[in-house]
Amino acid sequence: MKIERFISTPDWEKVKEFSVGKETPFLVVNVDTIKKNYQELKEHFEHADIYYAVKANPRVEVLEALRDKGSSFDAASIYELDRLFSIGVEPSRISYGNTIKKSAHIRYAYEKGIRLFATDSESDLRNISEHAPGSRVFIRMLVEGALSADWPLARKFGCNLDEIRHLISLVREEKLDVQIYGLSFHVGSQQRNIMMWDYALLKAKDIFDWALEEEGIQLEMINMGGGFPSNYVVEADPIGTYAAAIEESLDSHFYEKRPRIILEPGRSMVGNAGVLVSEVVLVSKKSHFEHYRWVYLDVGKFNGLIETLDECIKYPVFTDKEEEEKEEVIMAGPTCDSMDIMYEDHKVSLPLSLREGDKVYWLTTGAYTSSYCAVEFNGFPPMKTYCI
Ligand SMILES: *Cc1c(COP(=O)(O)O)cnc(C)c1O
Repeated sequence: MKIERFISTPDWEKVKEFSVGKETPFLVVNVDTIKKNYQELKEHFEHADIYYAVKANPRVEVLEALRDKGSSFDAASIYELDRLFSIGVEPSRISYGNTIKKSAHIRYAYEKGIRLFATDSESDLRNISEHAPGSRVFIRMLVEGALSADWPLARKFGCNLDEIRHLISLVREEKLDVQIYGLSFHVGSQQRNIMMWDYALLKAKDIFDWALEEEGIQLEMINMGGGFPSNYVVEADPIGTYAAAIEESLDSHFYEKRPRIILEPGRSMVGNAGVLVSEVVLVSKKSHFEHYRWVYLDVGKFNGLIETLDECIKYPVFTDKEEEEKEEVIMAGPTCDSMDIMYEDHKVSLPLSLREGDKVYWLTTGAYTSSYCAVEFNGFPPMKTYCI
């Protein structure tokens, strides 16, 4: 595995230089890489509007860079809304994409000017009608993509087609004060099966037709969520391949009557912009006869690497001793919790000469790392983020 697959040589040199003398663990985020990702996505999906999923990396510098590129944003909570407002993002560029929200938070968002909400249930729809009257609402479809996504988002969100029809009818029957604007789905994060978008779009088309025929409502928008890949150990297709397949699906299901398309990338926007720099705390063996070394680091599941849960996300790992002989190890974090093991089945090969104090670099860690840190589990503070 060559490092050039994950980061350009100048960027890599920059990270290493920047890391000298700094206390680990920390995340280095290259904001230029995020700008490039935005540009690339925009070029591949010319007609789509991009709503960056803030939760993937909510750093102000990241949000500012995307704001300046013209991005819109998808917020999961009023706290993310506040952060967006604090850097001057207009409410018209923000969607409230979480289907699970308190009435008080719907009201707060509405008072601040938010008029675009996700929903997937009758209760939430009624709450939006009451507390955010006149808003546009998109209904999240339940889609099955769990088996081919590295980090599935199945089951918890979305509702079945029968429930979607029910919600659309309900708005008319009870004169709820919302506009059913369209549908959304999320095929699962780091989705490797490109056909998942096709299945979802086919279902969406079904609802579009039904709504027009039965309810006289022309739905206008499809929010295709995230799910686009970042660059981990198991290689994924480039974004261009995804875009080409999705374009074809849109053509074949909607012909020339295409809805407005919204994308909500998180991982693919920021993942490859981050390098997490950590340090070896201890190298040991459980027995003299044991084959595997245990490498304990100052970063683990609770301060940045939660997505190694079930070894779902396999980050590329490098050291400063890449030329030396390597053997497979078990990698674990620093806390007194036995689930704080990153990789045991997935074997990472690390240099035999690896010692306490040596640096270990986790690449493609720009998404879902810093925002997931515990604040003081075992007393360890959340890791720092530096933007370069
Ligand atoms: C998390 C999330 C996203 C981002 O998904 P990625 O797979 O990281 O791109 C987009 N939309 C919604 C509603 C989400 O919950």
